[in-house]
Amino acid sequence: MDSAGASRAALNPAQRAEALRRMGSERFDLVVVGGGVTGCGIALDAATRGLSVALVEMRDYASGTSSRSGKLIHGGLRYMEHMQFGLVRESLAERALMLRRLAPHLVKPMRFMYLLEHRAWERAYLGAGLVLYDTLGGAGAVPRHRHLSRRGALRVAPALRPEAMIGALTFYDTQCDDARHTMAVARTAVAYGAQVATAAKVVGFRRRDGRVTGVDVRDLVTGKEIAVEASHVVNAAGVWTDQLQELVGGRGKFQVRASKGVHLVVPRDRINADAAFVVRAEREPQLFVRPWNDGRFWMFGTTDTKWDLDLDHPAVTAGDIDYLLRNVNRVIDPPLRREDVVGAFAGLRPLVAGETDETSRLSREHAVESPVPGLTAIAGGKYTTYRVMAKDAVDAAAAVLDVPAGASCTDRIALLGADGYPALWNQRRRLAAEMGLQVEQVEHLLNRHGSLIDELFDILRARPELAEPIDGAPDYLRVEAYYAASHEGALHLDDVLTRRLHASIETPDRGVRAAVSVGPLVGEALGWDGPTVEAEIERYRRRVEVELASQEQPDDSSADAVRQRVRDPRAPALADRTG
Ligand code: FAD
Repeated sequence: MDSAGASRAALNPAQRAEALRRMGSERFDLVVVGGGVTGCGIALDAATRGLSVALVEMRDYASGTSSRSGKLIHGGLRYMEHMQFGLVRESLAERALMLRRLAPHLVKPMRFMYLLEHRAWERAYLGAGLVLYDTLGGAGAVPRHRHLSRRGALRVAPALRPEAMIGALTFYDTQCDDARHTMAVARTAVAYGAQVATAAKVVGFRRRDGRVTGVDVRDLVTGKEIAVEASHVVNAAGVWTDQLQELVGGRGKFQVRASKGVHLVVPRDRINADAAFVVRAEREPQLFVRPWNDGRFWMFGTTDTKWDLDLDHPAVTAGDIDYLLRNVNRVIDPPLRREDVVGAFAGLRPLVAGETDETSRLSREHAVESPVPGLTAIAGGKYTTYRVMAKDAVDAAAAVLDVPAGASCTDRIALLGADGYPALWNQRRRLAAEMGLQVEQVEHLLNRHGSLIDELFDILRARPELAEPIDGAPDYLRVEAYYAASHEGALHLDDVLTRRLHASIETPDRGVRAAVSVGPLVGEALGWDGPTVEAEIERYRRRVEVELASQEQPDDSSADAVRQRVRDPRAPALADRTG
């Protein structure tokens, strides 16, 4: 994709308004419901097969599960234990593709240590598993695993308690900034002609003679309703899949249940280690403790508990935080304290529960079905295999479309920002000198924007004052907050500070000072007047208050009750939009 294509793919209010106008006046081959990684992947797959496609997302790109994952692009060691080698191979192939071709600016290799507690058998068992993992992962994608003695493990991670292990195995997987990646998939889809809009909620399905022929969309900015006509609709609504299904009427062939997983973030200096490590916890799943945001923080999790409360606001509780700290503290010294936690977030796994044998389980992890003519539903799976899921969903839809669709080619479509990234990385010192930035600042920008860094530099040439760090979130430059609104589709301060930047999980005040600092600048890009800037800052502050209050509650239902009680009645959109 050349730079002209890239700039045509800016996501902003003008692009959104034009997309909604076209949705109301044209007929599409495909309409996708849901702007998580699955829905955005479907929009990209469909557009690059030559189909006309529209996508609507009720909140922000990745505001559902796709910004709250463990952020690992991995084969999944636990699938090895369950002998699901096909699934591991498929996931590792996707890992290699994303790392090398599709998104090298966003997907990074990461070294993990698996701590061994038992002598010979555990080393032999895990060692054999990792030989297979390396083999399935393909030659050279990431370095191969290695054995470490206890002393060797302590050299890599002095924070580990010597008595917590007899040694370790190291292996490689990869990490990805999920929220930025999903937004990049959406932008790339737009570069190939998809029409996409956030704050656009499907409130009904259009039907004719028993067929679904489109969706009714409510524009959550203006309140207007738009009838979007399409040959086929794809429900990619994650944990909201069943709610969408209820709008069509009847039950789908599978149901989607939600299971909550929590992650915490602490500053880097709280754990003295040079590699990520895996901790066996009291309950499944194991905990992964890994560096985050260019190694400035540690992120760790996760938990796995049933969630049947408000899907829009999964809450982190005091119980979740205590559980994670207790289990990580079993293996490190000095222990982490509650005050060390600067960020906490919960996500809901969309788990598929099949109802009948007709359910098409395509890779044991995700399911695709057609509950009524004109509609395909896809759910389950994992972030790592989003591209395969997208292809499967478009294959199912294309089979019944009356226009021809080309073969899926997303394995050769680099996301915006990927092309040219390796060369620019090599040239980072020159770029820093040219722009008057520190080399670390250019590295930070390249690892978030890839070769689209040119667009930020263009803004900086016109407005050099935006090269200043953000007050309250100094890891980020002011230009990034501006660009989030002018090019990356952020419509609210929450979108900027939670998903384009990650100030909401990287600062002790959860980004409140940063909200005050960048509010007017974001407002400038979005055309806000003074009272709107104030209202946005207040809304962000209120969201943080609600989250912190929830984190004092012992369990899910008490945390959910706090959220319900303190929800601001003057800002109903808050409930619709915040993560
Ligand atoms: P979502 O991201 O939830 O997207 C669905 C979207 O639909 C939402 O944005 C929602 O707002 C929208 N929507 C719903 N209803 C409507 C409507 N009426 N109108 C318009 N829009 C609507 N996978 C990995 O590969 N690696 C990991 O390390 C990993 N860790 C995880 C850790 C946790 C704690 C969790 C919860 C998941 C993890 N996963 C991981 C799984 C992965 O995150 C999910 O499989 C993936 O993000 C699901 O994406 P999705 O697009 O299907 O759903």
